[in-house]
Amino acid sequence: FKVPTPVNEPVKSYAPGSPEREELQRTYKEMKSKEVDVPMYIGGDLVRTEKKHPLVQPHDHQHILGYFHEGEAEHVEQAINAALAAREMWANMGWEHRASIFLKAADLLAGPWRARMNAATMLGQSKNAYQAEIDSACELIDFLRFNAQYATEIYQMQPESSPGVWNRMEHRPLEGFVFALTPFNFTAIAGNLPASAALMGNVVVWKPAYTQIYAAHVIMELLLEAGLPEGVINLIYVDGPTAGDIIFSHPDFAGIHFTGSTAVFQNIWKTIGNNIHKYKTYPRIVGETGGKDFILAHPSADAKGLATAISRGAFEYQGQKCSAASRAYIPSNLWDEVKAYVQEDVKSFKMGPPEDFSNFINAVIDEKSFDKIAQYLDNAKNSPEVEIIAGGGYDKSKGYFIEPTVLLSHNPQYVTMCEEIFGPVITIYVYDENNFEDTLQLVNETSPYALTGAIFSRDRYAIETAAKALSHAAGNFYINDKPTGAVVGQQPFGGSRASGTNDKAGSMLNLLRWVSARSIKETF
Ligand code: GLU
Repeated sequence: FKVPTPVNEPVKSYAPGSPEREELQRTYKEMKSKEVDVPMYIGGDLVRTEKKHPLVQPHDHQHILGYFHEGEAEHVEQAINAALAAREMWANMGWEHRASIFLKAADLLAGPWRARMNAATMLGQSKNAYQAEIDSACELIDFLRFNAQYATEIYQMQPESSPGVWNRMEHRPLEGFVFALTPFNFTAIAGNLPASAALMGNVVVWKPAYTQIYAAHVIMELLLEAGLPEGVINLIYVDGPTAGDIIFSHPDFAGIHFTGSTAVFQNIWKTIGNNIHKYKTYPRIVGETGGKDFILAHPSADAKGLATAISRGAFEYQGQKCSAASRAYIPSNLWDEVKAYVQEDVKSFKMGPPEDFSNFINAVIDEKSFDKIAQYLDNAKNSPEVEIIAGGGYDKSKGYFIEPTVLLSHNPQYVTMCEEIFGPVITIYVYDENNFEDTLQLVNETSPYALTGAIFSRDRYAIETAAKALSHAAGNFYINDKPTGAVVGQQPFGGSRASGTNDKAGSMLNLLRWVSARSIKETF
């Protein structure tokens, strides 16, 4: 059968005076002023503990949004047991019934839940209204709808038969439970990692980043409202080492769906390797990790388009997208013009809390992140190898605010050209306009990551040369566009090398990791 044909959810503009803007502003204010109490969800239970922690707004850290209840080892065990207890019921449920739950969640989110989900993302993760809309509304809706379509296609993938023989392929859920570990920076990813595994019939233990708990809580309520049965997804707030010890040594651990840092992912991989003899089956390891995403301009590029891509690609959501442009290679003939445009853009970006919809830049996620970024800026201020072209300031007195910063480095291997900063900082290297070919090599070899990248050029031969030379330098490659903002169903997302397993979120390739096929041959 067919699921409703998915189309990308239209992005609302939140123009001044529009009804959606009024609704979002009202919801934001209500949620900001009412203290929320956030339990864990284990089986059918809402679990509260003695260990209550504040939910903080990054842009106003003294204003508490509410409290979440932190769990311990026993809650991890309970979550695994609840998942395993639901496994048979869920795996045997007709596919159309599983799909209906997620399709209903998408419709609820497109309608009555939209403002609440966006406000949670704005408040808890410090996103502006537009960045919240493209993430926690549109992208999450798209994941839910497109995945239902891809799942249908997977279930329809069947082998040939011959006279007297009927062959079938059964796309079974994995034998065990899946662990979803989700990052602060995208509410859509927080929803998609547990939901995509669950859609394919798996039961899930879900642990969001502590800085994302408000939005995770709203997602969980949405899924329950849409009819998700108890125990299919179990949401816990437990520190990483405690959760990891129990989950990665459990015989029924069947897979991890991860987005987060490269270091954490590599540790998880090692732990899984060390415990491999404990598992019933080889676990699926699916991860999207860091990035050091590039913009490379050819001397033929359009300077204005290029400058816009630099300032949008680097500074949307304070550069805290894995896909954010964080190093750029500009030919000497274009530099003066590009510099002027970028400085003008950066000057026009207002910074402040998301409740003022005209603030393009909000706060970075927490103090740890703020301190790390500030350290890079201090080092840059003291280095003869680098100049500050725009920004450079920071202030954490009220919220974790860092100015969008453009560095010009005279050394293509300067630390901010190579390391992931995960903040509003881009470093530019100006190359001799006659050295495009050498620069390709530089782009390819400077960083261990390979998530996103962009080439700007009006010369078709240069575009083709770059696409070939940088074949493995980015899992998402953009021609004359910024390297952020992949759309589900249009640009399946993910990278290789140190950026992950490249199992393309929002595509059939991802969903295939959450099934284990059985070939059946029957002779008549
Ligand atoms: N898919 C997002 C984009 O294209 C990035 C996701 C991430 O930061 O992990 O901008």
